[in-house]
Amino acid sequence: MHSLCEAVSHKLDVKLQTTINSISRSGDCWRLTGDSGVLSGDYDWVIATVPVNQTLGLFREHLTEAALSGENGLERVAMSPCYALMLGFAESLELPFDAAKVKHLGIEWIMVNSSKPGRPPGSTLMFHSSNQWAQAHLDAPDDWVINRMRMELTRVLEQQLPEPQVLELKRWVYARVEKALEPDYLLDIDNQLAACGDWCLYDRVEGAYLSALSLARRLAEII
Ligand SMILES: Cc1cc2nc3c(=O)[nH]c(=O)nc-3n(C[C@H](O)[C@H](O)[C@H](O)COP(=O)(O)OP(=O)(O)OC[C@H]3O[C@@H](n4cnc5c(N)ncnc54)[C@H](O)[C@@H]3O)c2cc1C
Repeated sequence: MHSLCEAVSHKLDVKLQTTINSISRSGDCWRLTGDSGVLSGDYDWVIATVPVNQTLGLFREHLTEAALSGENGLERVAMSPCYALMLGFAESLELPFDAAKVKHLGIEWIMVNSSKPGRPPGSTLMFHSSNQWAQAHLDAPDDWVINRMRMELTRVLEQQLPEPQVLELKRWVYARVEKALEPDYLLDIDNQLAACGDWCLYDRVEGAYLSALSLARRLAEII
């Protein structure tokens, strides 16, 4: 994936590992403030590609009431969470599927990652909780979540798996788009602010890409 980003950012001044905490007006320009203070540079436009809550945090005091809380305002966008747990085993597991969609349980999706071409020996399972289950247990400690998800997995597979060598939990707070923004990007021409992301359309890479493409086309018309 790196090569794609490197190709499209060729000759651009990209600053990595920099969280933007706020934006502010400086005359006709925008200034960005990160963890280590104000970043150098005055900018004509701010185009955010961060999740909806972070977009709200950055833009809230600069947007109109309608853009914030109108019928299609930013505050109407709704996302739900998901837990993803990865287990890596030294041994090859015998499972009757490469991927499984699970219904009516805390787990929703199981992927045998090691079944993908070119993977080393051993087995890797990646599984996702349902969004409802993650919402109900969003504040639970990691150890509790890991134990419960492994119990659910044993129930679904109807077999006790060996102890994993690798175990990694990821808590995705903004995973599924329950209600997307309409239209498929945010654009405030007067303030020169824009935003795009999967939360403007649907929760796949394709949703993020199409939202950005629509916004880029519109910006090319007006800038
Ligand atoms: C568990 C899981 C599995 C998924 N699997 C798939 C799949 O198999 N196929 C698929 O198509 N989609 C999948 N998705 C969905 C896909 O990952 C998202 O739709 C996509 O990443 C959204 O892209 P985005 O650019 O809108 O936002 P993101 O990918 O969330 O990117 C936002 C970026 O903004 C950065 N950021 C946030 N706040 C700030 C800030 N204040 N300052 C600077 N940077 C900031 C974040 O660090 C992040 O890098 C999955 C999602 C989850 C949660």
